[in-house]
Amino acid sequence: MALNTEEEQTEDYLFKIVLIGDSAVGKSNLLARFARDEFYPNSKSTIGVEFQTQKVEINGKEVKAQIWDTAGQERFRAVTSAYYRGAVGALLVYDISRRQTFESIGRWLNELQTHSDMNVVTILVGNKSDLKDAREVTTAEGKALAEAQGLFFIETSALDSSNVSSAFETVVREIYNILSRKVM
Ligand code: GDP
Ligand code: MG
Repeated sequence: MALNTEEEQTEDYLFKIVLIGDSAVGKSNLLARFARDEFYPNSKSTIGVEFQTQKVEINGKEVKAQIWDTAGQERFRAVTSAYYRGAVGALLVYDISRRQTFESIGRWLNELQTHSDMNVVTILVGNKSDLKDAREVTTAEGKALAEAQGLFFIETSALDSSNVSSAFETVVREIYNILSRKVM
C-alpha cells in the first residue's frame, strides 16, 4: 500500500488486493472481466500476469487498485507469503457449482490471516452465479459464512458480468473509507 502524505493524497492511493481461492473458481476471469471486460471460456487465462492496476472511482476521487492474481500456484497450495505481503484487500472466491471450493474457504481465510500483517478488507465471492442448474452452494450458506467471519459477501458471474465490478469496488471503497477516517 502506498499512501501519500495528507497534502497530496487526492489521487495517489494505491491498494494491493489479492485474489485467492481454489483452482478454477474463476479468479483470473473475474480480473479479466473487471479490468478488460474480457472472458476466457477455456482455463488458459492464468499465464503469469502477476498483477494488474485498475483505476476505481470512489466519491469522485480516483483510487488505484493493484489486483494480484495467482499464476496457478494455488493448485499446489503453494501461494507464497510474497503474494500476500502488503495486501489491504482480498477477494476470497469459490464456485457456487462446486461445493468443495466453498469448503476450502476456511483454509484460505486462515492462510490470509497467517500471512498478512494487518486487517485485510475481505469479500467472500460466490462466482459462476450463471450456473443455476448446477448450483451446489445456496446464497444463504454463503451469506451465513460471510457473516460468521465478518466478511462482505456477493455472488458474481465473470461469464455474464453480474456483480463483478461491485465485488472489487466494495473492497476498494471500504479500504478508502477506513483510511480516510484514519487520516482525518
Ligand atoms: P482460476 O483458476 O480461479 O483463475 O479460474 P479461471 O478464471 O481460469 O476459470 C476457470 C474456468 O471457469 C474457465 O473455464 C472459465 O471459463 C470458467 N469460469 C470462470 N468464471 C466463470 C463464470 O462466472 N461462469 C461460468 N459459467 N464459468 C466461469
Ligand atoms: Mg487463474
